[in-house]
Amino acid sequence: LNRRLAEFGTTIFAEMSALALSTGAINLGQGFPDTDGPEEVREAAVRALRDGLGNQYPPGPGVPELRTAITTHQQRRYGLSYDPDREVLVTAGATEAIAASLLALLEPGDEVIALEPYYDSYAACIAMAGGRRVPVTLRPHDGSFRLDLDELRDAVTERTRLLLINTPHNPTGTVLTREELAAIAELAVERDLLVVTDEVYEHLVFDEAEHVPLATFPGMRERTVTIGSAGKTFSFTGWKVGWVTAAPELVTAVRSAKQYLTYVASGPFQYAVAEALALPESYFTAFRDDMLVKRNLLTAGLEEAGFRVFRPSGTYFVTTDIRPLGETDGFAFCRGLPERAGVVAIPNAVFYDHREEGAPFVRFAFCKRTSVLEEAVKRLRAAL
Ligand code: PMP
Ligand code: GLN
Repeated sequence: LNRRLAEFGTTIFAEMSALALSTGAINLGQGFPDTDGPEEVREAAVRALRDGLGNQYPPGPGVPELRTAITTHQQRRYGLSYDPDREVLVTAGATEAIAASLLALLEPGDEVIALEPYYDSYAACIAMAGGRRVPVTLRPHDGSFRLDLDELRDAVTERTRLLLINTPHNPTGTVLTREELAAIAELAVERDLLVVTDEVYEHLVFDEAEHVPLATFPGMRERTVTIGSAGKTFSFTGWKVGWVTAAPELVTAVRSAKQYLTYVASGPFQYAVAEALALPESYFTAFRDDMLVKRNLLTAGLEEAGFRVFRPSGTYFVTTDIRPLGETDGFAFCRGLPERAGVVAIPNAVFYDHREEGAPFVRFAFCKRTSVLEEAVKRLRAAL
C-alpha cells in the first residue's frame, strides 16, 4: 500500500459487519436498510434486464431517462434547474461521485475543509487526490453537534481549494440550518472556493429541520457539485446508483475522472432509478415517517439503556455519548459490545483526525425493522 493510503486499512464498516456475522450480533453498525426499496422499482429493474435496457455499456453520463428524472427531481423539489445533457452525471453510487469530484478538482497540496466527524471515504479520497484535509470539528451544543462558523472561516487559507460539506450529516444526524448554509455560501463566494456537497440523506429530515441544498444560495450554483444517491433515498444500497449535478465545466471535470474509474455502471438499475425518482410524493413522505418512528424507538431505548443521545434531525444514524455508562473509549466499547450485548455499533473516532474528540461517541443505525430495533434495545438495557 502506498504512502497516500497507508493510514486507511479496512473500512470500519467492513470490520464491524464481519464482527456482526461472526458473533451473530444485531448489526446497527454499517448503514444499510434491512428492508428493500419499493416493489415497483424492483420490478422496473427486472423489466429493464429482460428488455435488454442497459445490459451493455450505458452512455458515459448516464442513461437519458435517469438524467432527466434527476433534473426533474431537483427542479420540483428545490427549484434548481439543470440541463440533463450538460449538468448531470450518473455515478457508481455517491462513493464514486465523491472520489471522482476530488480527483478531478484538486491539485496536489490543495487543502480541503471537511466537517469532522466526516464520512470515512472523504479522507481516503482526499488522500488519493494528493490533497490535504483540514477538519473543522462539529461539537456538542444543546443536544446536537454544531458547526462553529468562526472556526470554519479561520480554517480557510491561501491553499484552500474546496469545502466538502455533508448535510444531513453522517454520523451526527445534524442538518445544517439555512443560516449556517448561508454563511458557508458567503464564505465560498468571498474566498472563491469550490464546494462539493454530499446530500445523500436529503429525504431523511425530521421534526422542524429542513434540507436546503447549498446550490440554491446566491453565487453557489456555478461553484457547487451536489451529490445524491438512490442507495439512500430508495433503500437499494447494493445497486450503486448515485449522481452529480453541477455547472457544465464542473460536470465535465468530474466526468473526466469518472470515465477512468468505472467508465459506467449499473445499466439496468439506472432505468429503475429513473422510475423511482418519479414516484409520487407519498413515497418520500412514507419513507421519512417510517424512519422517524424508528428513530424515536431507538433513541428512547438508548436513553433507557444509559447512553446520552444526540437526537438526530436527519439521516438514519444516531450518535451517542458512552460516558454516562462509565465508558470513555468508543473503540474498546464497540469491539466488546457484540460479546457483551449482542449488538454492533460504530466508534465515531474513526471519523475524526482529532481522535480524542471523537473517543466517547458511538453511532447506531436505525434503518432496521422495528422488531430488530426492539430486540437490540432489550439486549442493551439488559447488558449495560
Ligand atoms: N456519503 C455519505 C454521507 C454516506 O453515508 C454514504 C453511504 N454510507 C455515501 C456517501 C455513499 O453512498 P453510496 O452507497 O451511494 O455510494
Ligand atoms: N454509508 C454507510 C455508513 O455510513 C456505509 C457505506 C459503506 O459501507 N461504505 O454506514
